[in-house]
Amino acid sequence: MKEKVWRIAVVLGICVIFFISCFCALKFEVNNGTYKCKNCSYETVPTYSEALCAMHIGSTRYLKCSKCNKRTWHKWYKKILDK
Ligand SMILES: [Zn+2]
Repeated sequence: MKEKVWRIAVVLGICVIFFISCFCALKFEVNNGTYKCKNCSYETVPTYSEALCAMHIGSTRYLKCSKCNKRTWHKWYKKILDK
């Protein structure tokens, strides 16, 4: 019984770490870059919830473009910080 509780705690701990790291990566992506539409090359900055719900492969996300209203794979580009 004690072992079972311990196992659940470990799984939950891993899940929490996984979600925190995912959220941190997402926050970094949204704050430090833009997503470029494949269709019209328009650069979109999605909201956290949009980015979180969107399917993704690496840093490429399936988002709805706010300019052409088409759902395409948006490639993430790092924002060039002008100083
Ligand atoms: Zn577009």
